[in-house]
Amino acid sequence: MRVISSVRATEVTSMHCGGTIESIYEPEDKGQLCDLMKALGDFHVLGGGTNTIFDDATITRPVIRLGKEFGVIEPIPGGLLAGAAVSMKRLVSHCTRQGLTGMEFMAGIPGTFGGALFMNAGTPEEGIMDIVSELEVADACGVRILRRDKIGYAYRCGGISPRTVIVSAKLMLTQSTKDAVRQAVKPYLNKKRAQPKGFSSGSIFRNPVETPAGRLIDRAGLKGFRVGGAKVSEIHANFIINDGNATTGDIVELIALIKGRIRERFGIELTEEVRIIGQ
Ligand SMILES: Cc1cc2nc3c(=O)[nH]c(=O)nc-3n(C[C@H](O)[C@H](O)[C@H](O)COP(=O)(O)OP(=O)(O)OC[C@H]3O[C@@H](n4cnc5c(N)ncnc54)[C@H](O)[C@@H]3O)c2cc1C
Repeated sequence: MRVISSVRATEVTSMHCGGTIESIYEPEDKGQLCDLMKALGDFHVLGGGTNTIFDDATITRPVIRLGKEFGVIEPIPGGLLAGAAVSMKRLVSHCTRQGLTGMEFMAGIPGTFGGALFMNAGTPEEGIMDIVSELEVADACGVRILRRDKIGYAYRCGGISPRTVIVSAKLMLTQSTKDAVRQAVKPYLNKKRAQPKGFSSGSIFRNPVETPAGRLIDRAGLKGFRVGGAKVSEIHANFIINDGNATTGDIVELIALIKGRIRERFGIELTEEVRIIGQ
């Protein structure tokens, strides 16, 4: 198993901030993963780091990142089996090439399949858990299969406990044609291309039932508002952009400020979608 020491959090997260991670462990198979989980006890699981921000201090909590061996994509009757380490980009491209329809709405969402499942990533209308039939997970009991109907997933919440590592999942997809899937993917990719560029974690807050978080932040006059190197995007107010010099402290302060302003102005409590990981 590869163990990488002293990794800068800036290198493994899309927000590009935070301190140094003491150790990242990369198990190569399920046996190694289970042994590692038992040995470590407490740990954090890292996928592509596109929804994760690490504290500015040294992160002593061990980090597990699944190795390449968890990156398989295999056809199964009625869809695909994919490993949690597969990137969403590769998975969507694979479906397009094979003419498999059903997950076009995931086009342009960065990160890994495992991270997407944990977050139930997707659009406001659909989440990836909607098209999953079962998950293979590792936890203190070993490796087991969880059927989707036994998982309490919800908007931006895959319903998986943080002490559980998602190993793979089965996706329910339908055979179509390469051209039809390519056409269906386009509007999603175009929407993503219009989003803010730069270091970010995508949407910082979940959308409240009443109104999208970005609209509330915009109406509160916070577009362009800055703390240190962290700024509310002028293009999409639910994005915080790191100008390259932001600390996690800047981002956390800006998040607190936005939440306070939205609470005062609209009486709505915003909840973070991004995961802020402490020491
Ligand atoms: C520019 C940009 C645009 C974005 N657009 C969208 C969007 O349209 N819709 C959307 O939903 N999200 C969006 N996101 C957020 C993010 O890309 C998704 O949430 C993504 O699915 C996270 O995947 P990841 O591998 O990067 O997860 P990470 O950030 O690495 O982890 C996220 C969470 O998942 C857990 N996790 C990761 N892998 C596993 C695993 N194998 N087993 C158990 N837990 C695991 C982590 O512990 C953490 O709690 C966007 C982000 C960016 C930067």
